Amino acid sequence: MKTLQELVRPNIWSLSPYTSARDEYQGKDAKVFLDANENPYNDPVNRYPDPLQRDLKQRISAIKGVPADTIFFGNGSDEAIDLMYRIFCTPGKDNAVAIEPTYGMYGVCADINDVEYRRVLMDENFQPNADRILAATDSNTKLVFFCTPNNPSGNNIDHKVIDKVLDSFDGIVIVDEAYIDFAGVPSYLKQLADRPNLIVLQTFSKAWGMAGIRLGMAFAQPEIIGIMNKVKYPYNVNLLTQKRAMEEVMQYDRVQGWVESILKERTRLMAEFAKLDCCIKVYPSDANFFLARVKDAAATYNYLVDQGIIVRNRSKIALCGNSLRVTIGTVVENNALLEALSKY
Ligand SMILES: *Cc1c(COP(=O)(O)O)cnc(C)c1O
Repeated sequence: MKTLQELVRPNIWSLSPYTSARDEYQGKDAKVFLDANENPYNDPVNRYPDPLQRDLKQRISAIKGVPADTIFFGNGSDEAIDLMYRIFCTPGKDNAVAIEPTYGMYGVCADINDVEYRRVLMDENFQPNADRILAATDSNTKLVFFCTPNNPSGNNIDHKVIDKVLDSFDGIVIVDEAYIDFAGVPSYLKQLADRPNLIVLQTFSKAWGMAGIRLGMAFAQPEIIGIMNKVKYPYNVNLLTQKRAMEEVMQYDRVQGWVESILKERTRLMAEFAKLDCCIKVYPSDANFFLARVKDAAATYNYLVDQGIIVRNRSKIALCGNSLRVTIGTVVENNALLEALSKY
């Protein structure tokens, strides 16, 4: 691996960050706070939130089994994805490599940051080839993106491929585990301590059931987390989000119960969907959704919209011709989908 200083953009490496009032005084026990030009009325939202979300990091550290200083929280994982480009990629010069098809934000954030984005097509079982990924990198490649389980295909990416890239690539490897709770395979968090070039992304938006509060997680060695903290907006995770997330982490068994129900429904819905007349193939899923090839995706999609049921038409994505992506809902929701399609 290159040194972190070689990988980070020079202007970011030398950046002196903004220091907020809440950075300078971190204790909670003072009785009078006259340091941040806040309004003394309207408790508790009158106060700026903890810029480093320390309480929440303590809890997540215990749940995930990683040290608190390896955790970053953002306004969704989307903030962490954007930060990867802003920290590592000099616009108009550096590039990023990713599997294709995959989550759209990697490419959109590359475009926004004027960074070349290289797509390496997977095979028809949605598995990538490590040598082809490595061949797509050059001396200006700073980032390689994996997403496992992958969106929109739904399958786990072969860990041998990811490991080989982690071993051989001299830049940063991002493993997006937004759907890891449904995956039935170990998380890359286990490798964090041994891999200075690994960044793992997870989110509160899927298994945790909190897409609405916008909270994403990135995990990496403390040196990288320190740079992310320096570049992020000072108060990137608002007070209401931190409070709500704290309530939820105190009842983590709820999340585990949801995951169990969703996995059960995944098995049932995929089996039933495969029997439908409109269905050609249901792809294997390790996530809370599945991809299915149908006879006419646009027609099926439009029919379902008329029935008040919305799925995602992914037909224009590489390797996903005539494919719909279906999220696993409640038993009632899944039955509504099956019933509508049985009459189609
Ligand atoms: C849904 C999803 C996310 C979550 O993004 P948030 O900004 O945390 O809501 C991240 N990565 C992938 C691949 C996703 O599908």
